[in-house]
Amino acid sequence: MSQGVLETATAIREGNQSAMDALEACLSRIESGDTATRSFQHVQADAARAEARAVDDAIAAGRDVGPLAGVPIAIKDNIVMTGRETNCGSRILEGYHSPFESTATDRLRSAGAVLVGTTRCDEFAMGSSTEHCSSGSVGNPWDTDRVPGGSSGGSAAAVAAGLVPAALGSDTGGSIRQPACLCGVTGLKPSYGRVSRWGLVAFGSSLDCIGPLTRDVPDAAALLNVIAGPDRRDSTSVDTEPPDYLAALEDTGPLVVGIPRQHRHKGNHPAVEAAVDEARATLEAQGATTVEVDLAMTDHGIATYYVVATAEASSNLARFDGIRYGRRASMNPGETLEDLYARSRGEGFGPEVRRRIMLGTYVLSAGYYDAYYKKALQARRVIHEEYKSVFEKCDVLLGPTTAEPAFRMGSIADPLTMYLCDRYTVGANIAGIPAISIPGGHTEVDGVTLPVGVQLQAPFLGEPTLLRVANQLQQASEHHRKTPAA
Ligand code: GLN
Repeated sequence: MSQGVLETATAIREGNQSAMDALEACLSRIESGDTATRSFQHVQADAARAEARAVDDAIAAGRDVGPLAGVPIAIKDNIVMTGRETNCGSRILEGYHSPFESTATDRLRSAGAVLVGTTRCDEFAMGSSTEHCSSGSVGNPWDTDRVPGGSSGGSAAAVAAGLVPAALGSDTGGSIRQPACLCGVTGLKPSYGRVSRWGLVAFGSSLDCIGPLTRDVPDAAALLNVIAGPDRRDSTSVDTEPPDYLAALEDTGPLVVGIPRQHRHKGNHPAVEAAVDEARATLEAQGATTVEVDLAMTDHGIATYYVVATAEASSNLARFDGIRYGRRASMNPGETLEDLYARSRGEGFGPEVRRRIMLGTYVLSAGYYDAYYKKALQARRVIHEEYKSVFEKCDVLLGPTTAEPAFRMGSIADPLTMYLCDRYTVGANIAGIPAISIPGGHTEVDGVTLPVGVQLQAPFLGEPTLLRVANQLQQASEHHRKTPAA
C-alpha cells in the first residue's frame, strides 16, 4: 500500500526517502498488484524514472523541488502528455502521441510529481463502468467481478488498490465522483474552469473538468493547489488566482448543510441512505445546522445532460476522421473519401461512442434542434437558477454520490439504465459547481465488503468550504482508511 500524497512528499523533501525509491516501490506494486484490476493502460517507467532522477538531483543540489516532489501520480488516459501515448480507451487513437502537454500534467511535473503512467477509462470518457474501453475493462479492487465505476475507473481502482497515492481523472457528468464512490476513495470535481482543460481530450466542452482522486481530502487539496489556476490556453479557465486549498481546511465558522429531498430516494440502497444519515449526524454533532431543501430539477438532470453532452460530443469527435486525427482504415479500390471517413470511424469507435455521436447529431439537426438541444439549454438554465437559490439557504449540499454500491460486470446491458447511474452527479456539471465524493461507509453484498460514498456540493468556486466540510467529515470517521483486502 502506497503512502498518501502529503506523506510521500514530506518523506522525500526531508530526505527520508528518495524519489527514485518511491517510484520503484510504486512500479513493483503495479507489477505485482495490477493483474486482476488492470487499472493501468501504459506504465511509462523510463519517462517516470527520468523525472524521479531529476527530483533527486534537485534535492541534492539544494534546489526547491516543489510541493509534490517525488510523488508518483497516475493520469487518466484522456489527458495528453508529450512523449507518452494517449489512447482515450479507443481503437481510433491506438498509437497516438500528442505533440503537446496538458496544462494539468505540466503543472504536476513543475511541482515535482512523477507521472507513472496512464489509467484505463471508458472510451472518450463515455460511461459509468469502465467496461467500454478498447483494451478491456477494469476490475474493482474490492471485488474484481464488479465494475470500478467510470469513466475514470482505472484512476479510482489504482488509488483504491494502493498502487499510487493519487491519480487525475476527468468529470463531465460524474466520472471522477462515481468511480471514487464505488472504489472507496476521495474524488473531487472542481468548479468548471478552475482547472484548465488544455490537453484534456474534449467530450462535452461546457461540462468537462479535470480533478484529483486521492485517499483523503488533504491530498485532494494538495493536488488542487497545483493544478488549479488561470491558463491563457483555455479561454474558459477562471481568470482569478486560486486560494490555498490546504489552508482552507483549517477554516471554522458556522455552517448550514442542505440535504436535497430528491436525493433521498426510496430506490437508494439502505447502506447509501445510512451513510448520508451518518454524515448528517456527524456534521450536526460538529455544530452545523442541517436543513432539507428541494432540488426539484434533479429528475430532469439526466435528460438535460444527455442532450447537451451528446450534442457537444458529436461535434468534438468529428475531428477523429482517420485523416486529421486517428487511425485510418485502408482504402479499397473505387472508394470515395466519404467512404474512407465512414469506415475509419466505424472501425475506430466502439458502440457506445457511435451511439453518442448519433444521438448528438440527431438533437442538433434541423427540425429537432429546438425540440431537444434548445430545450436542454433552457432546462440547464433552470437547474443553474435552482442551485443558486438553494445556495442562498445553505453553504453546502449533502447527499449520496450513487444510489447503489458497485454492480457486477456485464449486469447493466441497457444504456439508459447505465446513464441513470449518474443521476446525483450530473447536476454539478450542468451548473458548473464543485462537488466531491468521499467514502461514507461499507456494506456486505453477496459476502463481499463494498464501499458506499457521500457527495458534497458547493456554489461556484466554493472549493474552500467544500473541502473543509469534506475534511471535517473524514476526520470524524475511519471510512476512508479501510482498504480492500489484498
Ligand atoms: N457517465 C457519464 C457519461 O457516460 C459521465 C461521464 C463523464 O463524466 N465523463 O457520459
